[in-house]
Amino acid sequence: MAMLDDNIFLKIIEKKIPAKIVYEDDQCLAFADTNPQAPVHILIIPRKVIRTHADITEADEQILGHLHIVAQKLATKLNLDGYRLVLNCNESAGQTVPHLHLHLLGGRDFAWPPG
Ligand code: 5GP
Repeated sequence: MAMLDDNIFLKIIEKKIPAKIVYEDDQCLAFADTNPQAPVHILIIPRKVIRTHADITEADEQILGHLHIVAQKLATKLNLDGYRLVLNCNESAGQTVPHLHLHLLGGRDFAWPPG
């Protein structure tokens, strides 16, 4: 499947399409995934458009750390004992939306290795 050229997450940032937003600040947004793979499945995205993990530079060090701090705070708020963070980079790894995002998954046990 070709990675979509249309950045649907930008439309969520711009509030042009709805999302179940659970957290937002001046740097990022967190919202429920519409196709949840676990009882808790939240996407955490930077407001800055970064297409893939392969596109990050040292200038993004702070925002990437911030996404992780937000993920940890949400996991604590949601009483997640364990959780999994996933970041798919490029189509071969399963990335379908061309806007870097962290998946926060929880509420069930997870197998390893992932598929
Ligand atoms: P990826 O496959 O790129 O790592 O993850 C993209 C995720 O975005 C998928 O889990 C998919 O279900 C989710 N998604 C795609 N379109 C939308 C949307 O319009 N709204 C929300 N909330 N999630 C979406």
